[in-house]
Amino acid sequence: MDKEGCMLCDKSIRLPLCFSCMGEEIKSWLGAKDPRLVELLEGNNFFLRTYNRNTEKCLSCAKELNVCVDCYTYEVREILETYNPEYIEEFNNIFSLAIPKRKR
Ligand SMILES: [Zn+2]
Ligand SMILES: [Zn+2]
Repeated sequence: MDKEGCMLCDKSIRLPLCFSCMGEEIKSWLGAKDPRLVELLEGNNFFLRTYNRNTEKCLSCAKELNVCVDCYTYEVREILETYNPEYIEEFNNIFSLAIPKRKR
């Protein structure tokens, strides 16, 4: 029934930002920590660019959303877990604090 959900996990998308806009924020944060992590992330996230699904629009750039922040940041957390586990808590804090409450 929920056609607006994330294409990976089917949950509804609570943060209406597309992966490329989220990615920009994440990359600027990661880049300040360790530029190598940005390269790793870009390699890992390449597959996301091929997906497209008619859903809500990104708040920032009006492109269609396709994955939720949880799925998107899953890979980021995996990279952090592997290379810089000390950043995970900060990452979680930053990117959930930045999530606007969704109106229902
Ligand atoms: Zn998801
Ligand atoms: Zn966007």
